Amino acid sequence: MATRGVIIDLDGTVYRGNTRLAGAREGIATLHDSSCDVCFVSNNPAKSPTEFAARLTEMDVPADAEAVVSAASVTATTLERTHSDADLFVIGSPGLRSILENRDFALTDDPAACDVLVASYDRGFEYDDMTDGLRAIEAGAAFVGTDPDRTIPTADGRAVPGSGAIINAITGVVDREPDWIAGKPAERMAETALTRLDCAPEECLVIGDRLDTDIAMGERHGMTTVLVLTGVTDRATLATSDIEPDHVIDGLGDIGVVLDT
Ligand code: PLP
Ligand code: CA
Repeated sequence: MATRGVIIDLDGTVYRGNTRLAGAREGIATLHDSSCDVCFVSNNPAKSPTEFAARLTEMDVPADAEAVVSAASVTATTLERTHSDADLFVIGSPGLRSILENRDFALTDDPAACDVLVASYDRGFEYDDMTDGLRAIEAGAAFVGTDPDRTIPTADGRAVPGSGAIINAITGVVDREPDWIAGKPAERMAETALTRLDCAPEECLVIGDRLDTDIAMGERHGMTTVLVLTGVTDRATLATSDIEPDHVIDGLGDIGVVLDT
């Protein structure tokens, strides 16, 4: 079946930090030339689709907010459905807080008075945050996470802890798994992107650098998966992984090879 839609991961696939990756712009142009619609999908929970679109456009990859799905936006949309009018206690970045506030959620500083504990990437995370998480769960709050990324790459390529590490720390204290985690590989992320692209999973490619999020999402939802080697996964990691992409390319610039198969 011909490819009609393409889900493209951002960090490690289109850019690293603030630098566009070699071949990324050309790869996206190849997809457009092949009449594929593109939806960018990121687990970075600190930015809104509008911010991602601005960042891409600055990198000479023009995109509007409608073409971006982010872990924070899917967290907010899911909470609007399941916990509208809820008071949220957020362990997360200033960026995530303002995204949730802009979606009209009330953020509380009192964990014992919240309806939902939202756990995410937080560079200031410390011991007292785990205590706060415990107080929220003791008081009966729901427990959700923005994305499962245990580590994230920095500009120099070395990994640092991401949301998944913090969600796991809180899970360890409260002895309970989150009710849901919004980001890739979750179904809500895949479905949001497929709805934007208006295409069926079998007409869709997922391109990304991470096996347990990007490739796992495509595999679980019946899409064709393409691993790029410009991000967190190298051939040695791939060789020992249970998650096997349908295609492996050096970078997004080589996507034409996949379209031709
Ligand atoms: N989480 C955080 C905090 C990040 O900064 C990033 C990348 O910048 C990610 C997750 C992964 O984002 P992506 O899904 O675009 O690779
Ligand atoms: Ca990535």
